Amino acid sequence: MQDEIRSFLESPHGNFIGGKWGAPLEREEIPVKNPATEEVLAKVVSGDQGDVDAAVSAARQAFQSGQWSGLSPVARAKILSKWADLVEQHADRLGYIETLEAGMPHWLSTVTIRGFVAQHIRYNAEWANKITGETLPGRPSGREDSDWLVATLKEPIGVVAAITPWNAPLSILVLKLAPALAAGCTVVLKPSELTPLSAEYFVRLGQEAGIPDGVINLVQGYGPVVGQALAEHDGIDKISFTGSTAVGQKIIHAAAGNLKKVSLELGGKSPFIVFPDADIDAAVTGAGMGCFYLTGQNCMAATRAFVHKDIADAFLAKLVAFADSLKIGNGLEEGTFLGPVINDTQHAKVLEFIRKGVDEGATLLCGGKALDGPGYWVQPTVFADATPDMSIVRKEIFGPVLSVQTFDDDLDALVRNVNDNDYALSGSVWTKDIQRALSLAKKIDAGQMAINAHAAVSPETPFGGNKRSGWGREFGQDGIEAYYKKKAISIAL
Ligand code: NDP
Repeated sequence: MQDEIRSFLESPHGNFIGGKWGAPLEREEIPVKNPATEEVLAKVVSGDQGDVDAAVSAARQAFQSGQWSGLSPVARAKILSKWADLVEQHADRLGYIETLEAGMPHWLSTVTIRGFVAQHIRYNAEWANKITGETLPGRPSGREDSDWLVATLKEPIGVVAAITPWNAPLSILVLKLAPALAAGCTVVLKPSELTPLSAEYFVRLGQEAGIPDGVINLVQGYGPVVGQALAEHDGIDKISFTGSTAVGQKIIHAAAGNLKKVSLELGGKSPFIVFPDADIDAAVTGAGMGCFYLTGQNCMAATRAFVHKDIADAFLAKLVAFADSLKIGNGLEEGTFLGPVINDTQHAKVLEFIRKGVDEGATLLCGGKALDGPGYWVQPTVFADATPDMSIVRKEIFGPVLSVQTFDDDLDALVRNVNDNDYALSGSVWTKDIQRALSLAKKIDAGQMAINAHAAVSPETPFGGNKRSGWGREFGQDGIEAYYKKKAISIAL
């Protein structure tokens, strides 16, 4: 396998437009670094406005030709299922490439690709022939006495731009590609320039599965160039973005020109609430995994813990022991749980937040330090005595930093504190009292809540955020409906 990966890395990495892979000949290239070693893995072409125009035009042509949207949904689903088969067969290699470029443990990337990524393709493929319109008892005003048939059709939205980040490259990319393609749309994809290689390999498998030329196009490059050009482009009908709130806001402005539809999955600062009757060991593991998974570079990360004061000491002692037991290292090493953070910028940002946590008066219980390079290492870090105004409580750090506050029996005050945040993506409540759990799950502002679990997502469960966490929902029926537009047809009988 390693020889194949080496030869893939050494091959040219151009754009994929209209079914053809371009060679990055004499073009500016972007070095892709392994965050665990700081070595350059490969170089990819740095796309420009011309590439975006060509890709949008190829996607438009493929859409209008009907070679994809005009296929029977069952035929589309068959091709997508073949893609899922190939993804499963290549999970080890895809996982290896993700680990090299994004740093997460190889066991985790492989399991996620075989499960989550392949499953999402299949789940959406199965929707392709189940999205339906409706018949309605409508009679236009003034003509109530005549007979009418009113029906709605669901039509694919058209050409979609998918802009994806680096933290979980393929898991996020599939959330956009699978429903868009199942719905009959065509796509221009721009992955993060930090993690472009797994996206390329994934698209090559789609091509091998028989997705027609021009249906998926890939433009590599920088966000402010390629991403911005896609967001502004009049040839794009919908933009689906995952990333930071700041860039999400830029996309809304850029999309205003042709009023393209926009879906945004942005940041989070998820609450994790533990009551004294909870299974404490399970909650400790849930908090540790929930926060330190992907080295904290996860929009659903459990970064704000609220622990009842009666169990705070016991909970914190166990949490610190759990954090200290996690192996930090290169994702290719056996037993690694925490890989590096993605790059030097993110490394400096996380350490700056830790410094602020100490300066603003939180108690550093464990971690808090960078480890020697090469590689961008940060220890799993737990702060106690956090208060609502602290930077580590308010801001999305995107690193392995957990802040813990305590609460008493005043649940209204707890809910006010939990909801006092710009983000509202997800959260969890840990208790055996189901009435209390459900009551809190209803009162907390979030796109999804879990009880006695954290970040419990599945292909069927709608996922997305409120407030500055985003617009719209991915996963589930909502996820695919977002790639259709509804047309009403009124028939005078
Ligand atoms: P960004 O939001 O900058 O990047 C996400 C994607 O958007 C990338 O493909 C990026 O391209 C692209 N992009 C950047 N600028 C523009 C633009 N003007 N128009 C269109 N697309 C653009 O995230 P960062 O990588 O900078 O991460 C910074 C912070 O964002 C993190 O610390 C975290 O807080 C948050 N984040 C949240 C994620 C989530 O899952 N909710 C995921 C990733 C980040 P390129 O990378 O090539 O610049």
